[in-house]
Amino acid sequence: MPLADDSRPGSELGQLLAAAVERIGAARIECAARRRMEQRGRLARNLLQPRRRDVEPRQRAQQAPGVGHLRLHEEVVDLRLLEPTGGKITFDGREITHLNRSDMRPVRRDMMMVFQDPYASLNARKRVGSIVGEPLEVHGIGTEQDRKRRVQELLEIVGLNPEHYNRFPHEFSGGQRQRIGIARALVINPKLVICDEPVSALDVSVQAQILNLLKDLQQDFDLTYIFIAHDLSVVRHVSDRVMVMYLGKPVETAAKQDLYTDAKHPYTGALLSAVPIADPSAGRARKQIVLTGDVPSPLNPPAACRFHPRCPRFVDGKCNVDEPELTAASGNPDHRFACHFPLERWPMDEDEIRRKPAAYAAATD
Ligand code: SF4
Repeated sequence: MPLADDSRPGSELGQLLAAAVERIGAARIECAARRRMEQRGRLARNLLQPRRRDVEPRQRAQQAPGVGHLRLHEEVVDLRLLEPTGGKITFDGREITHLNRSDMRPVRRDMMMVFQDPYASLNARKRVGSIVGEPLEVHGIGTEQDRKRRVQELLEIVGLNPEHYNRFPHEFSGGQRQRIGIARALVINPKLVICDEPVSALDVSVQAQILNLLKDLQQDFDLTYIFIAHDLSVVRHVSDRVMVMYLGKPVETAAKQDLYTDAKHPYTGALLSAVPIADPSAGRARKQIVLTGDVPSPLNPPAACRFHPRCPRFVDGKCNVDEPELTAASGNPDHRFACHFPLERWPMDEDEIRRKPAAYAAATD
């Protein structure tokens, strides 16, 4: 069979076939990659609404809670790893929204990130010294000897042994790996550290150690954190200001003490009602606010107030028609919330929160 013979790998036809197969394979990979990029772009465009997130130096601003990948995208945009599609990013008094790659490089020295998963965020094939020292190398800081000294110093500061310099990540526990991630984030003395759920993958006892370490390091290194968490007890422990987000939009932002004692948004109220109380009898006496319905797709969020399909205070004709803007609470411009019918006081129980909002009753009665 001539065709079969000609299609042998060494023959001319065989080479042509091999080249064609290679081109088809490459085109497929390219299409798949482009599709993934487009999907990601679409997701980012849909999820990333223009917002204002102000963090003062040495503060710990907290986002709680949101949608995991959305938050990651946000932080990636904050760090300018993705191009923002709208809004403005100001860092340390300077607008960095459209800085090019080379202008962004020195700015990136001031921003670092601690990742959620201490297992996936460390390269298993590199030694600890190389992982922690990589930012120094990327930014061309110091000689090899200086870098080694700095890395060993940082390992000691985060509670590891400087002799761990030559070990691999698999030789450490989850908490120790997160300490390595923290050392890597601090090695170039950043001003801002974005902590993306840094303790959610750890045991409770280890969580406390890492949180206390982060608090101590903030004092020692004069750091500002944007700390992302789902756990409101963690939020309370580490934050100065809190921003609550729902489906990619901020719904309430306030100083920690204001948010915990005077929540205004029904979603914040529902979250706070779910925080466990250490006293069993007080915990049994409290009625938790249980939200009904599924979380809508962030790709196709509900119109107007995004929380309206699940809100216990929903008012037809208002909440599903007018989108509430972030407005300041009376007498406290620092406490802002996006709701037409905010909670009159906190705590409220399930029955009270579902009663007709006072503002709505006054307008319609
Ligand atoms: S605007 Fe309406 S639906 Fe939205 S949170 Fe407020 S009360 Fe609920």
